[in-house]
Amino acid sequence: MHIERIAVDESVGRVMPPGLFVEALSGHGVPVERVGDGEEFGPGDAVATFGHRDAFVDADWVHCVRAGYDEFPVADYEAAGTALTNSTGVHGTTVGETVVAYMLTLARRLHAYRDAQRDREWDLPSYEEPFTLDGERVCVVGLGTLGRGVADRAAALGMDVVGVRRSGDPVEHVSTVFTPDRLHEAVADARFVVLAMPLTAETEGMVAAPELDAMREDAYLVNVARGPVVDEDDLVAALDGGDIAGAALDVFAEEPLPAESSLWEFDEVLVTPHVSAATGKYHEDIAALVGENVEKIAAGDPLTNRVA
Ligand code: NAD
Repeated sequence: MHIERIAVDESVGRVMPPGLFVEALSGHGVPVERVGDGEEFGPGDAVATFGHRDAFVDADWVHCVRAGYDEFPVADYEAAGTALTNSTGVHGTTVGETVVAYMLTLARRLHAYRDAQRDREWDLPSYEEPFTLDGERVCVVGLGTLGRGVADRAAALGMDVVGVRRSGDPVEHVSTVFTPDRLHEAVADARFVVLAMPLTAETEGMVAAPELDAMREDAYLVNVARGPVVDEDDLVAALDGGDIAGAALDVFAEEPLPAESSLWEFDEVLVTPHVSAATGKYHEDIAALVGENVEKIAAGDPLTNRVA
């Protein structure tokens, strides 16, 4: 493979200013161009993009500027021999900090005080409501970049971290690693269950009524993975029925979350607009990943984060 142009698709504007990204990508001796709908691609082209378009399959290499590439038709890339890479590896700090912030907010009740502040109310919690993360258990499902970013930070706050991993192999800062077939056991004693796995055929709907039922009634579900890993109707029913205490949700089956969704209405549900990885440095992080692969192609080395 020989890259003669890096095309930056306008869709990257969903997560960063394209101009800053183009600037950060220069310096590898390959011209970088902004492209939009209707652009055609061929040999020598690399494309950096947020989403998929059929025309991209004619390029040599396509880089998805997100970690989750579940919206890409991987089989089409494989059939065409087009390399597809993703952006896993860069979201451990951002998402790790966001998840800790969700847990601290819920435990220390900051969301309730902020809600009361809007009405200028000096609203005290009941005596038993506030708790500390120190000593509480968190179960992290998916122990990749996101999951480890959460585990490291939760452990530093004195939490007991358990996790779910397909191999069941040990992970630093995780006291017990369960395999996915033991998910109910893994979540049973946790005050927080954090979903950090990719959306795949295996994980779609992985958290539904039986799993929510297996959780403690004072537990919170945190989803920073993808909306469809949770059955949203079952989640609303569990929240309504008091089967769990609440949730922190960054991702949804439909985004933006429709105005009529009941998930907006719960005091104990934090809704964030798919921003757990947001940072004003995103263009630098992704440009470093793409740049590394440009150098690898020049050296004839295998690509980092290749998924097809
Ligand atoms: P990663 O590839 O580093 O880690 C994912 C881990 O999940 C891997 O270790 C994988 O083996 C594991 N996994 C796969 N199937 C599993 C299963 N059935 N049970 C348990 N573990 C399983 O990816 P990452 O960078 O950590 O990102 C994970 C996912 O989080 C992405 O695919 C994406 O959908 C989502 N994500 C969301 C945001 C956001 O802004 N909310 C940001 C980054 C990533």
